[in-house]
Amino acid sequence: MSPPALPLEPGSTIGILGGGQLGRMLALAAARLGFDVVVLEQKADSPAGRAACRLIVADYGDEAALAQLAGLTNLVTYEFENVPSASVAWLAAHGVEVAPGSRALAVAQDRFEEKTFLNANGAPTVAFAKADTAQEAADAVAQIGAPALMKTRREGYDGKGQRWVEHAAGAVSAFEALGGVPVIVEAAASFVRELSVIAARGRDGATAIYPLAENHHENGILRRSIAPAHADAALNDQAERIAARVLAGLDYVGVIGIELFEMERGQLLVNEIAPRVHNTGHWTEDGCEVDQFEQHIRAVAGWPLGPTRAIARVEMVNLLGEEAEAWAKFAAEPETRLHLYGKRGSRPGRKMGHINRVRPL
Ligand code: AMP
Repeated sequence: MSPPALPLEPGSTIGILGGGQLGRMLALAAARLGFDVVVLEQKADSPAGRAACRLIVADYGDEAALAQLAGLTNLVTYEFENVPSASVAWLAAHGVEVAPGSRALAVAQDRFEEKTFLNANGAPTVAFAKADTAQEAADAVAQIGAPALMKTRREGYDGKGQRWVEHAAGAVSAFEALGGVPVIVEAAASFVRELSVIAARGRDGATAIYPLAENHHENGILRRSIAPAHADAALNDQAERIAARVLAGLDYVGVIGIELFEMERGQLLVNEIAPRVHNTGHWTEDGCEVDQFEQHIRAVAGWPLGPTRAIARVEMVNLLGEEAEAWAKFAAEPETRLHLYGKRGSRPGRKMGHINRVRPL
């Protein structure tokens, strides 16, 4: 296949790797701009699969499925960062344009590579050290100091794959409890708030950065976001500088989520980056003229980026497990916009939908 002509014309087809709620909202945004969407997903029944015009059910590494996707689409994007990098490489080798590119994926898939990249690009983080063995884990905790947070280098999400190490003596048992896989040890951040910035970069290098969101987690899962967060000009400038450096450093195309810690003196540290649309950006659906999903489609399709200023103040609340059963109550609240993911079967903690409570700025 030859690379698609950009900007991608309405009527073209965009492929999405992954079938979750982020893929669903991307598919809906793409449809609004006149695109068709094909989803490649492992499960036959998925939130994005039911919003797409075509679904390929297969493992992400299945070459026949990737070939089918390549044949049907003009370009491919993804909705989660644990897409096998080999699949993206396969698509690229067969002439398929994949955005964001493989560099962003490689950096975001490995917490050590991620923090190393961030520091090298002028985006500060907590102190960290890597460890591949129990002895190295003990050395890393001794170097960083306890308490420290030990995280698996790969495949952690929603607080999974991490353990607090309260005392140096606990390093080896924490390493073993995480499965004896490569880890990083992070200094404990005594942050005053958790914030995030959602940002986009187009194919021409133009950037668009949304106002900061303030985020509250429970049991490692995002509970709610308030946006735009109360922040002075200095804090906003810092966030914009960090976002611009990360986007440029990755030669990025698309929307990225950057999670931040606000430290006592107002310094921002980056916790992690997600090379995709992000749960803390759901407020933009009802708080901005162009939301993060449309922005991502615009960016990958080579369209101009849209405005990012807030037009409303939003409290976004995730509906976890059976909370979504109260949909009729939320639907009856005039200030509440209800977003449901169409998931069959709820279990505790599962993200079933979210609401945006909208107030004037
Ligand atoms: P993560 O999976 O890295 O996003 O971490 C999940 C949550 O754990 C974050 O949202 C923070 O609340 C907390 N956390 C992560 N890293 C640190 C750290 N180095 N110090 C203190 N809290 C952290």
